[in-house]
Amino acid sequence: MNRNFSAAYPGSFDPPTNGHLDIIIRASNLFSKIIVAVTDNINKRHTFTLQERIDLLRESVANLKNVEVLPFSGLLADYLEKINSFVVIRGLRALSDFEYEFQMALMNRKLNKKIETIFLTPDQSYTFLSSSMVKEISMLGGSTKSFVPKCVELELKKRFGNR
Ligand code: ADP
Repeated sequence: MNRNFSAAYPGSFDPPTNGHLDIIIRASNLFSKIIVAVTDNINKRHTFTLQERIDLLRESVANLKNVEVLPFSGLLADYLEKINSFVVIRGLRALSDFEYEFQMALMNRKLNKKIETIFLTPDQSYTFLSSSMVKEISMLGGSTKSFVPKCVELELKKRFGNR
């Protein structure tokens, strides 16, 4: 039933991790098209530029034919109208994600009744993974090899000069 529908997966992806990728793969198996919408939020200080985050994601999902990576700014509800897609995919790792995600899902629906948020849970091995954790490990000289796609690992190495 979902197969003729597209869905958007918004996030900052600063940088993309294997947890994000796990969610993208699951979503791409459920919907005919997934738009990974990379936020350019001026209130957030990102480590990687919008273009870098887009390039890293595009390289990471190159083998997934129904996934497109696009930039987005402003209100998600407005962006969804623009792309005519009203399903939002979000990842739920643990209870700690729940309150914020729940609030955002209800707010988006308040802004536009057509919006439905679908939460997907990643493989158990990614439930502890976050972009900020990965950056911290990298800055402290640790290896990020098992946490991020190869291109992200190389970029982190370039930036922070770790193992
Ligand atoms: P945001 O700044 O919008 O939270 P993120 O890039 O941190 O953007 O995350 C985008 C989405 O991916 C969020 O729904 C977040 O909960 C989810 N996510 C992040 N890391 C993981 C992970 N390891 N496993 C599953 N979902 C994740």
